[in-house]
Amino acid sequence: MLKAQETLLEIDLNALEHNVTYLKSRIHSSTKFMAVVKSYAYGNAAVDIAKHLETLNADYFAVAYTYEGEQLRTSGVTTPILVLHPQAVSFNTLIENCLEPNLYSLKVLKEFVATAEVLNQKEYPVHLKFNTGLNRLGFSEAEIPEILSILKHTEAIKVTSLFSHMGASEDLNEKAFTIQQIETFKRISDLLLNQLPYKPMLHMCNTSGILNYPEAHFDMVRSGIGMYGFGNSEIENTHFKPITTLKTVISQIHHIPIGESVGYNRGYISDSPLTTATLPLGHADGIGREYGNGKGFVAINGQKAPIVGNTCMDMIMVDITNIDCQEGDEVIVFGDYPTAEEFAATANTISYELLTGLSQRIKRVVLK
Ligand SMILES: *Cc1c(COP(=O)(O)O)cnc(C)c1O
Repeated sequence: MLKAQETLLEIDLNALEHNVTYLKSRIHSSTKFMAVVKSYAYGNAAVDIAKHLETLNADYFAVAYTYEGEQLRTSGVTTPILVLHPQAVSFNTLIENCLEPNLYSLKVLKEFVATAEVLNQKEYPVHLKFNTGLNRLGFSEAEIPEILSILKHTEAIKVTSLFSHMGASEDLNEKAFTIQQIETFKRISDLLLNQLPYKPMLHMCNTSGILNYPEAHFDMVRSGIGMYGFGNSEIENTHFKPITTLKTVISQIHHIPIGESVGYNRGYISDSPLTTATLPLGHADGIGREYGNGKGFVAINGQKAPIVGNTCMDMIMVDITNIDCQEGDEVIVFGDYPTAEEFAATANTISYELLTGLSQRIKRVVLK
């Protein structure tokens, strides 16, 4: 561990390895593991993480957009990469980089076949996504005949996998909904498997699906948040290690007399003497205004220091009245305490949003 002298996002590859090992212990040894590294590996550092995951035998990667996959390829990543939400405008780039598209509608399927044919592709690997209740992306069951007819009339593509996505796998109150999704997916995939001359892989589970629905692991699972250290439940969290620590440093300490204010718009007015520390981190770094005014807190020497007043663009002020600390001391914004989940909860959001919203201007330090 480094002692921070500026704002740093520390990424612990040993913790990543711990989490992947745990996730793999929850799936059958023959089930493939797709590592979801979209959005800079949930705000971490996609290339370092993907390269380390290759050494941990990740079978597949997933990104959201073609550009993200292109960056991985440019950095030398050779594992197959599924692009979850490709746009037709980038199909040429996608093929040039050996990226594999999620085809989720008849329009996108036809557009991709057309591009693949123009580029003289043969059996180019594609993945078909079915909507089973999330109502976000995916073919409907009724479209199966037309999908089959398109597939029959082209040699340019070959379906590597059929998949779907769970809408509430972390919420056990929605178990009936998820089981319904699983049943729908089985019905759809059976229909296709019966008609196709080869056997694509099936996959449906994200991290919470892996943990809560072992009966739905099929041929492959897709994990994002679990690899980064969160199991989406208090019990599961005990098995994971957050891989990210956001650290910063005390720039300046102020002693605020009664009646003075702190920050823009006089967001805080002291009714008792207050000591504050100013930190080099603000909403431009991804710590939004929702965290201000006493909601969010950081840890200094293990003690809770709430944010005072409004979050500025590049700074926050925190209450250190009862904390023994000095200018230059290290501050933990989130890590072991508070965790990213705890910190995010103070602004009514989730670790996914907090992590992926961290600005690229924050220096990433990868610990090996
Ligand atoms: C982001 C994403 C995942 C990963 O979900 P986690 O909850 O982070 O494990 C899996 N599948 C799809 C389709 C996704 O978009």
